[in-house]
Amino acid sequence: MHYTHHSTCRICGSADLMQVLDLGKTPPANAYVQFGDLDKQQPTYPLAIYFCRGCSLVQQLDVVDPDMLFKNYHYMTGANFPATEHFRRYAEDAIKRFISSADDLVIDIGGNDGVLLDFVKDFARVLNVDPADNLAAVSEAKGVPFYTAFFNSKTSDELLRKYGHANVVTANNVFAHTDPLRDVFAGVSKLIRHDGVFIFEVHWVKHLLETGCFDQIYHEHLCFHSLHALKHLVESSGMKIFDVEIVPMQGQSLRVYAAKDREPKASVAAILKEEQDAGLTREETYRSFSEVVERNKAELLTLLSGLKASGKKIVGYGAPAKGNTLLNYYGIGTETLDYLTDSTPLKHGLYSPGMKIPIKDEALLETDTPDYLLLLAWNYKDAILQKEQSLRDRGALFILTIPSVQIV
Ligand SMILES: [Zn+2]
Repeated sequence: MHYTHHSTCRICGSADLMQVLDLGKTPPANAYVQFGDLDKQQPTYPLAIYFCRGCSLVQQLDVVDPDMLFKNYHYMTGANFPATEHFRRYAEDAIKRFISSADDLVIDIGGNDGVLLDFVKDFARVLNVDPADNLAAVSEAKGVPFYTAFFNSKTSDELLRKYGHANVVTANNVFAHTDPLRDVFAGVSKLIRHDGVFIFEVHWVKHLLETGCFDQIYHEHLCFHSLHALKHLVESSGMKIFDVEIVPMQGQSLRVYAAKDREPKASVAAILKEEQDAGLTREETYRSFSEVVERNKAELLTLLSGLKASGKKIVGYGAPAKGNTLLNYYGIGTETLDYLTDSTPLKHGLYSPGMKIPIKDEALLETDTPDYLLLLAWNYKDAILQKEQSLRDRGALFILTIPSVQIV
């Protein structure tokens, strides 16, 4: 397992890059540790983000071998109901706007378990192109053909030979993870018909800044996108952005529509202006973000050490990848947290990467009530607070970390 360090921006090629946040060296956030490996040293890699003065892209320059990170991807979109509903409406809208015949071809890059194309397959020919071969059977059981590959311009040539041009290409929650972005976009540009459309969703860096959720930063997430940077990328591949929407995925994402020759709608200029007003094209904005992260860190560590000094029992609630960024950067380990709980049986009996905190079944909390729970799966805050009402009735308090430290 290894990593490479880039010295230029992966969108515009500029070498004028400024580091805006340094989270130190950590193991990959999904590298959970087996009991038998506890004594072994885990490989760690630099985790830092940089702002490009050329195109405004916020990105990591240290890239861990993607084969190691994604070959057995555990996250299955279809298992998550709100996401399924999101993709159902997404498919309906795309079919209405861009599909005119059952012969039309729709290709989804990084289509995971086939959740989006499942809603398209009755209206057009579909193909799911994804490197995670453990998802192939799930996708095909839905009637969504699977093509195992990392998408790039070479894959694009193979697909063209086998299937011809696509009317619609989609890619959702993929480009945060993609290192060779220009090559991928060049591949899409070749793959779509002259009147074809490319639709993709990416988490919006504006949401990251506004919520202070720096724990989204881990080795898998190479880019934090803005429409400004994406415009540069799309145009470099011979396409143009003609429409954009803000959608409620991962907090807030951008759904971007690109094509070779379509008139841009007013939405494009409106969101570019919104980004400018929010300071997304200025380096200082990211430096202030970094200062907020530091302040929150100091505040949380003071709170936790005070609680431990007065003999309180604290447990981490949830063991998501993002939680590992926070635990590793803040240096919170078993001196503070007795264990982490998680609802995913796959993680039970494992230890968190880096801090090596044991992960247990959340059912344990029914008999082992801690005084405090550090909420690491904060994105499900409302659902968790509701679900754990009886735990709270027994006196347990939740500590929130993001956007700011709070006890509820
Ligand atoms: Zn750039």
